[in-house]
Amino acid sequence: ASLDELMARVSVCSACPRLVAWREDVAVAKRASFADQPYWGRPIPGWGDPEPSLLVVGLAPAANGGNRTGRIFTGDPSADWLFASLHRTGWATQPTSEHAGDGQRLVDARMVATVRCAPPENKPTPAERDACAPWIAAELVLLPTVRVIVALGAFGWDGAIRSLVAAGAPAPARKPKFGHGVELVLGGVTVVGCYHPSPHNTYTRRLTAEMTDAVFERARALTH
Ligand code: SF4
Repeated sequence: ASLDELMARVSVCSACPRLVAWREDVAVAKRASFADQPYWGRPIPGWGDPEPSLLVVGLAPAANGGNRTGRIFTGDPSADWLFASLHRTGWATQPTSEHAGDGQRLVDARMVATVRCAPPENKPTPAERDACAPWIAAELVLLPTVRVIVALGAFGWDGAIRSLVAAGAPAPARKPKFGHGVELVLGGVTVVGCYHPSPHNTYTRRLTAEMTDAVFERARALTH
């Protein structure tokens, strides 16, 4: 399969009844401030360069962010934070990510979600995580140029490591605990942990702009 075929297949997946209901209910009810906008309301495919050095692995689309715009990390505060840093560090052409037609481009980078449908309260169940795992593993198989994965949050960290192993990397003898800046090399790919850029972390300054930039600068160094 090609990346395009994979994207087409995942965008109509309906394996998780709870998430199918949620993604579609949110798309019908809509947040008041977006009442005049169409909602995507389906799984979010990977997005960005088809031959990237860097892969950013997130948790799942936000109900009124990616689930609305159809593009991962677009149209919500986490997206603004992440793209400001990606732009400062040379991985994105614009400092904001507002909607799917904003002209934003990732440079030598791609993004995927571990779970591709928006979950209630941003919390997928273990069964939903496992149901979605083959999609990210299939995408990784089609991305042999990836040298670095920046894993956002503990969920992204686990998802990145599991999917690398599912895609053929040897299982790690010991899996380090997730932390900001923690690294693990698996099958020639370095996974770098980064606190998730959600308002919960950024408003409290658990994650600062400098800390975010440091991770993406480290990713840059690892790809050279
Ligand atoms: Fe399919 Fe993944 Fe969405 Fe579940 S979360 S319905 S496996 S795309």
